[in-house]
Parts: sequence; structure tokens; C-alpha cells
Amino acid sequence: MTWERRWHPLREEWVTITSHRNTRPWSGSDEIEAAVSGESFDSGCYLCPGNSRISGEQNPDYEGIYVFDNDHPSFGLPAADVQPPADDFFKVATAGGICRVICYSPQHNGSLARMSVAETRALIDTWADETESLVANPEVASVLIFENKGEVVGVSNNHPHGQIYAPGFVLDGIRREAEIFERSERPLMSQLIAAEEADGRRVVTSNDRAVAFVPYFARFPYEAYVVPRQQRQFVYELDDQARTELAVVLNELLVRYDNLWRRDFPYMMLLHQSPCDSAEKYPAYHMHIQIHPPMRQPGLQKYLASVETGVGHFLNDGCPEDKAEELRSVSPIHYANILG
Ligand SMILES: [Zn+2]
Repeated sequence: MTWERRWHPLREEWVTITSHRNTRPWSGSDEIEAAVSGESFDSGCYLCPGNSRISGEQNPDYEGIYVFDNDHPSFGLPAADVQPPADDFFKVATAGGICRVICYSPQHNGSLARMSVAETRALIDTWADETESLVANPEVASVLIFENKGEVVGVSNNHPHGQIYAPGFVLDGIRREAEIFERSERPLMSQLIAAEEADGRRVVTSNDRAVAFVPYFARFPYEAYVVPRQQRQFVYELDDQARTELAVVLNELLVRYDNLWRRDFPYMMLLHQSPCDSAEKYPAYHMHIQIHPPMRQPGLQKYLASVETGVGHFLNDGCPEDKAEELRSVSPIHYANILG
């Protein structure tokens, strides 16, 4: 086993990679989880078309994508007045903002990985429209679109959906990343894409306008970045062709994830976009997608244990070169579609 530290240029921190020389990737079992389990409609699901939500509102009989304000928001506008702490050593501030839910499909048992490229493109258009309207709202400082997928990351409802957090403050990770983009003498993401493609071992798939790779400095074994080649601060600034080719690359990556273990692959997926409190401050920001799958192999989770949680240093025991090879070695056609 070898250990090395690799520099994470977007976070300006080290990641320790341990590569096990003699372990083989999980070879799989012949048992295939039912590709599409459960019913396409669940009368008890608050995201299915026509059902009532906790707020008492009824979902329309939507057919494609459906967006609504979260009934259990982490942030709300207007923010409640905060209580000043008794001791002024402590700091407190408002936590106002807007939270929305994006239902990807009316199909309760669907998933983004099993949606078509055209449906994935429609989702990217929704991300773009939602971002554009939220960025125009003077009370919004940052727009974070994300998906938690799988019970292992705490998802209680399997209906395919993502979320939008648009707080009135800039999320710390995004602010740090934006400052790092601005500090870089040469365009940071373009350098990263060029370096990944020059090496080639960690690239999973690419086309003229987008590329997906397991980054050299991955913090999770199967982590991947999906990056449009054009530098844009926000997803709505991508043109028609760039959106379509981004959809092609994202769709193929998600299919390969599911094909690895022939089951729905859990992940945390985040759309990184520029802060919008003063977007002109961050012209170098390169919007992109980061995907952090929590599993090392089926049934074996990567825990954020003492070293990750306590001192913020990630230990990744999946060699990025090997993990990208695993992803390239499986079919780009979803197993559910092969099985019919
Ligand atoms: Zn549902």
C-alpha cells in the first residue's frame, strides 16, 4: 500500500490518497437488483402528481419537471429577527433565503440516471431558469442546486428530486472557492481540464463542450467533476449546444455509476455557481458539477470520521486512476435498458 498527499487546487488543501496495490475492484454478483422497483405512483408521497403536501397545497398533475417552494425550508424570507447573544463574544446573523424542491419526473420510481439525455437537458434548463430568477432577486446572495440521492445520505423519499438553497448570504465553501478562482493567475478550471486530459487516466467521458473526470485530488473514491469547457459563472449563461453536451456527459457518468454495481448509486451532487451578492467580483468563477458518492463498495460506506470531521483532512482509499478505469470499463448503456 502506498500513501501520498495530493493538492486540491479548488480548496487549497491536501488530500491523502492510499492506494491498495493488490485489491481488486468489487467483481459484482450475478444478482441484479430489480432495475425499476416499486410503483410509478405512491399515494403517500408528497412529491407525486396530484398528492397533497404537508402545507395543504396540492401538487398539480405535472408531466415533466415540477418546482415548488420547500414546505420545510432551511432558510425562509423574511428572516425572523435574531436574538442577540448574551455575551458579545458570540456572533449571530439572520439566515434568510429561499428553498425550493425540483421534482425531476412524475415517475415515483424513476431516477436521473435512468432519464434520457433530453430529459437531463430539460433539467439543466430548469436549473438555468431557476438560477437566473434567483440571481436577479436582491435578497439572494448564493444559489446552490443539489441532489442527495439514496438512504445512505439521509434521503427519506425516493421520488427523484433535487433541491435549491438560495440564502441571503454566501455559503462559505462557495465564497472560498470563488476567491481561489479570482486569485489564480491563469484560469484555474481550464488548467485543471488541460492537466486531466493530458494525463487521460482519470477522464471518464468527454465531448466538444464538456468533460467528466475523477479528479487527481478526489476526496471520495468515486468522486467526479462534470465541467463545461467554457468558463461561465452561472448555468444560465451556457448556450444551447453547451447545455446539450453537458447533459450527454452527465447522463453517461450517472449511467456508468449505476452500472458499476448494477443498482441505484447513491451520491451527493452539487452545482457550483458563482456567488451573486456581487457577481461582478467573481468574473473568473467557472461553474461546474461535483458529485461525491459516499460508498467505497456495495454495503461499505466511506464515513467522515475523526480525521475528516475533526480536522478537515480527507483520506481517500480509492486510487482515482483505478476508479476512473472502473467507470470506463462498464457499459454506457443503463443495465435497466438492456434488461428491458
Ligand atoms: Zn412520489
